[in-house]
This record gives sequence, C-alpha cells and structure tokens, in this order.
Amino acid sequence: MKKKFYSWCIVMLFCIFLCLACSEEEFNLKEPVFHPYLEQPYHQNKTPKPSGKSQYFFCNLIKPYFDDDLNMPACELTTFGRVLQDQFESLLKDPYFNMELVNYYKELHKKYVTHYRGENYYGPNGEYDQLAEKTMRELRSFWDLNREIYLNGQHTASLDDREILTDMIESFDRSVRNRSEAYRKADALLEINELSPNLPENPYFAMDAFTRPNGLLVIGDGLIETLIQAGIDGQIAFSAILAHEWWHQAQYEYSGRWTVPEEFTEASQVSRFKELEADFAAAYFLTHKRGATSNWKRIEEYFHLSFTVGDCLTGSDTHHGTPLQRMNAAELGYELAESAKKKGFILTSQEVHDYFIENLDKVF
Ligand SMILES: [Zn+2]
Repeated sequence: MKKKFYSWCIVMLFCIFLCLACSEEEFNLKEPVFHPYLEQPYHQNKTPKPSGKSQYFFCNLIKPYFDDDLNMPACELTTFGRVLQDQFESLLKDPYFNMELVNYYKELHKKYVTHYRGENYYGPNGEYDQLAEKTMRELRSFWDLNREIYLNGQHTASLDDREILTDMIESFDRSVRNRSEAYRKADALLEINELSPNLPENPYFAMDAFTRPNGLLVIGDGLIETLIQAGIDGQIAFSAILAHEWWHQAQYEYSGRWTVPEEFTEASQVSRFKELEADFAAAYFLTHKRGATSNWKRIEEYFHLSFTVGDCLTGSDTHHGTPLQRMNAAELGYELAESAKKKGFILTSQEVHDYFIENLDKVF
C-alpha cells in the first residue's frame, strides 16, 4: 500500500515536472501576477488541436516509467529518468514532505524567475557564469535574431534566502497583503527548511528550463545537477540547454513565417516538432566551427544528453520527443554542421528550419 502511494506520488511529481519544465507556454496562473508580460503571436498559423486528455490521463502514460510490469521498450526509463525518480523518492521520504508545500515552492519559484530582472549568476556558486557569457555571445553572433535575449539563473538557495523568499511571497502569494505578512510566512517556511534535508535543497525546486516570447531564458541549477548525476558533463549540459532554449527564440522571431508541417495537427505533435527542431538547431550551433566549435567528445556527450532527456509521453501537449527521436535530431544537426564545415558559412535560421522539415524522416 505504502509502495503504491509512493509510486503515485512519484508519478504526480514527474507530471508536474514535465508540465512545467522546458515549456514555451505560459503556465496557468492561479494567483494574480503583478508584472504580466505581453505574449507574442504563437509561431504558427493554425491552432493545434488540444489533446482533450485530462492531465490525470496523461499522467497515466508515465506509468511505464515506473511500473516494472509494463514493458515499453521504445520508452524505457533513461538514466536521467532514474535519477529523477531517486530525487522524488528522497523528497517523498522526507519527514517534512507535504505535496501542497512542494507545489507551492515549485510554482512560486517559477513565477519568480519568470518576472525577475536584475543581476544573475549561473550554477549554485556561479560555476557557469563565464560559460554563459561566452555561449550567449556566440549565439548572438551565430543566429540572425533581432531581439534582446536574457538569461535568468534559478537556484534552490533562493528559497532559503529570507529576502528573496519574502520577495516571492509578497509578489505572488494571493493570501499575503503586505511585506510584513510576507516576512512572517517566509520565516515560518524557513523554519521548515531548516529541519528538512530536501526543502529546498532537492534539485526538483530548481528544475526549470524554459523560454518566453519576451526574450527570457531560464536555466535551473537543479536540472544541470540532475544531468550531472545522470553522467553528463555539466558544462555541456549548460551550453546545450542554452542553445536549445535560444532556438525557441528563433521560433518566436519567425512565428509569422514558419509553419509546422501539416501532418502535425495534435498539440503533442506540434510540441514535439518544435522541441526536436530546437535539439537539432542546438546541435548545429554546438558543432559548427563558427558556433561553439565542440569537439567530437563533447558532441557525443550532447547525443547522450539528448537521448537521456527524451520522454515517452507521446500524448502529452508538452511532449518533447522520445529518447531516440531526440538523439536523431541532435545527430541531424551535427551532420548538417559537419557537411558545411569546409565552406565555413553559417546557414540562416530560415535555412536551418527548412532543412529540418526536409529531413524529418531522419528524425522520426
Ligand atoms: Zn524546448
């Protein structure tokens, strides 16, 4: 019975993670937002058909990840999935575990990094500061985008910082009316944090990686940490996620011109197309000698990363592609950059987009 409850909770946490992580969409704001930003037009002309499946139903699709009795070879749990599972288990076994508090922290933190403007650091101790600066400089000159793009780091330590936590609560918690009340609530939460080994240290609380049409990119330390635990080099994980999210900005920039192939009508298929294209374009940038100029060892690492973050939620509106499809997309981007190596030119965003559509059969 206890085991069943654990499995259920893990599935729920996994659902929440997948719904929130790496999404281009606005999350559902249940609380008032004090700094709303303008959403730009969706980057396709037609509206995808929503799956019509409730979240509960699509959560059931995750079962193969966790249920040994079900066998779905195409979507076996990857190393990344196993690490996530361990993290969720650790969270669930925490004596101070509370689903409501976990969701509260998760949403609060996501809203905070979405609206925050100011100084930033990347990695728990700024380990990726230089890499972020270098990669963003390279991405700016590599892609022909005419927009301001900025990167917010997300850190579990923010949820343990009295001033930052109070900022979050004051800005986004509807039950709080002023800063004094926000301090009181933050202090009560900090007491729980003090006692709990997971709140908020568990990587789950800084697992976001997403982008917004206003030029915002977010990369959470928790996601990088999880990938490191899954055997991926942290530097490669960081630059790959940055390059992937950057391509979503290209998709926003060309939203009026680019269309998703007609055969993709379901929301899950549209999401998969956009995500795989971002994997592909990231590989092109990472490989290209006028991009990140990664050597073969680093590119191989990127292939591993692409595979391990694949999911088998093929009916989900936020489906990103199966492990194999994500790896195929990465390989296609590598091949394109390699084929152009001697010539040394950089394809435009439009040409990269067209190439991906022309070679979809190599990905699916
Ligand atoms: Zn993405």
